[in-house]
Order: sequence, then structure tokens, then C-alpha cells
Amino acid sequence: MIVVVVELGVNLRGVRRHNLALLLTSIRRAGGLSRIELAARSGLTQQAVSKIVPELIRAGLLDEFREPASGVGKPRTRLMIRPAARYALGVQLERDEVRAVRTDLLGVPTATVTRPLPSGFTPARAVSAIGECVARLCAGVDRSLVLGVGVGALGPLDHRSGMVLGATGLAGWDAVPLRALLAETVGLPVVLDKDTNAAAFAYLWRAETEVATAVVFVGTGLGAGLLIANTVYRGPRTNAGEFGHTTLAHDGPFCLCGRRGCLELLHNTAPDQRSAARLLGIGLADLVQLLDLERIVLAGRAVLAAPELYRDEARTQLAALLPLPRWQRIQVDIDDLGQDIVAIGAATEVLADFYAEPV
Ligand SMILES: [Zn+2]
Repeated sequence: MIVVVVELGVNLRGVRRHNLALLLTSIRRAGGLSRIELAARSGLTQQAVSKIVPELIRAGLLDEFREPASGVGKPRTRLMIRPAARYALGVQLERDEVRAVRTDLLGVPTATVTRPLPSGFTPARAVSAIGECVARLCAGVDRSLVLGVGVGALGPLDHRSGMVLGATGLAGWDAVPLRALLAETVGLPVVLDKDTNAAAFAYLWRAETEVATAVVFVGTGLGAGLLIANTVYRGPRTNAGEFGHTTLAHDGPFCLCGRRGCLELLHNTAPDQRSAARLLGIGLADLVQLLDLERIVLAGRAVLAAPELYRDEARTQLAALLPLPRWQRIQVDIDDLGQDIVAIGAATEVLADFYAEPV
């Protein structure tokens, strides 16, 4: 009998937590809702909404705005997320720099800091550069409201244990517990993910989507974040999306990863931008074939340097290489989050953890 009571208590806590998360997320996604709209949107009863909303208001997470009465009835009150209630930090660890952002509770970036990194930098150097960025970004706000730091780093890495397993092309990066090292240095919770997965997460944060999407990130490296069935697909060892190290020329030049003729190597050593964009387009046709993708978002500094060229070459190669019947249309877009996409995505991973358990 005692066991039953305990289990019931656990379940009720689980339901309460689920409902708090559901309401907060519904308000964020809609950009603001009345209590009646919130009940309709979330599927909860109006009584349940009336009970939970005050908890979120007491926690300082919501603002209430009275809307002018339209016709008969009481004026409605619109509930909105209070942007300054919490902050998240997001970091991109690239081969030549650290880019860091601070976002508000909506995931909107409010400050950016960058630090250059010397070639062949060590883990200690990276941790110190990230630590400097974090200190700068915390300086302008109440530190107790900063939820944590998300880091989008070079792979391969283990997202679950927070270990970098061996960043391609960087010596001294085998089995580095980057998450633990950073958490100790900055004194905040840290989430570690591959840069490409963080970029994909930035899109997931914006809107739920069932559209099978690859966010193809072309920085100093090349990889794909896979947004499949409204989830970032990381794979069982969290290293899905190593698109840059797939073979485009089986007898091509040796790549740092040990294989030959990798897409990333051929792209980065192409004689001009158009040839580089064309090679990426050829690779994309394989990715679409493999995953039945419906949308490709091209992101990263190489793409942003010549966006139309990359988009047009991708469309041209997909049309030329795939037998595209009417039912297999593929949308190719240029990312509009810009050069901070990985840092923003990493910050929203921290926010997502908070929204899952807000009070
Ligand atoms: Zn390779």
C-alpha cells in the first residue's frame, strides 16, 4: 500500500512538471497567448491552466499584458515570456576562433564576443579563451540568472559524456573531457554538442518541423546536422552527420581523417568558389538519396561568403543528379541566422533543458 502512494506521488510530480513545461513552451512558440488560447493550444483544461499559470508568474518567467476589450466580454490578458528572466550562453569552438553569444529566455542573442585562436591550439588554450568570453558575457547581467553554457565544438565527440574524442586535424585532442574542464573553469553547467548538431538545434528551437532537413554547415570543416521527425538525429554514439568525411573520389588525395578524396578536403582545396560549391552540390545529392531529405539549409562562413552561388550550384547539381519526380521536391535555403548559428544553437540547447523543467 505504501508503495502505491509513493508511486502516485512520483507520477503527480511528473505530470506537474510536464504541464509546466508544456505551457511555457506553448507560450514561447506562439509568441504570447491568452489563458483561453493556452488551454486550446496545450490540450489542458482551463482549470489546469488557471492553476499552473500563477506558478510560472510567481517564478518571474511570464509577463501579463492586458489587451483592449474587443466588443463584449472581459478584456483578455496576454501571457508572454519575460525575456530577461533568464539568460543562456552559447559558444562555437572553431579551428581558428571562439564565437560566443548571450541569449535571453526566448533564445534571442543580446551580446556577442569573439576570441581568435592560434593554429594547433591546445584544450587548455580553448578552455581559457571560452572562459574569457563567458566572463565578458556574464559581466552585463545578473549572473544568478545565467542558466549555463552550450558549446558547439569540432567532432568527433560524445555529447552524453561531454568528451571530445579526437577533433579532426587538431593534435592533443584525444579523449578530452571538455565539458568537465569548462564547467570547472566557468562555474556554470555546460552542454557539449557537435557544431553541426548545435546548428540544427537552432532550427528546431525556432519551430517544430516534420520536414526532413539537413543543416549543412561549411566552416573550416564541413558537416551536416540532421533534423529528422522533429528531433536532432545524433545517432547512438552521437556522431551522425560526418558528411564532410564521405568519399567523393576513391583514389583522391589523403585527408587528415585517414580516408581519401573526402568531400571536405576536395571542397576546401577547390580552385575557386564555384568549383567548391559544385562539389558540395554533388555530395548533397548522395545525402538526399540516403535520407530522403525534403529540405537543405546551407550555413557557415564559406556559404555566407557567396550564398547565391552555393544555393544555385546545390539546386543545379540536385536537379542534374537525382531523378526528381514531382513528389520528391527538395527545398534549398540559405541559413538566415548568420555567422553565430552554432553559438545560438548551443545556447538554445541550454534553454531547452530549462524549459523542460522550469520551476
Ligand atoms: Zn576525411
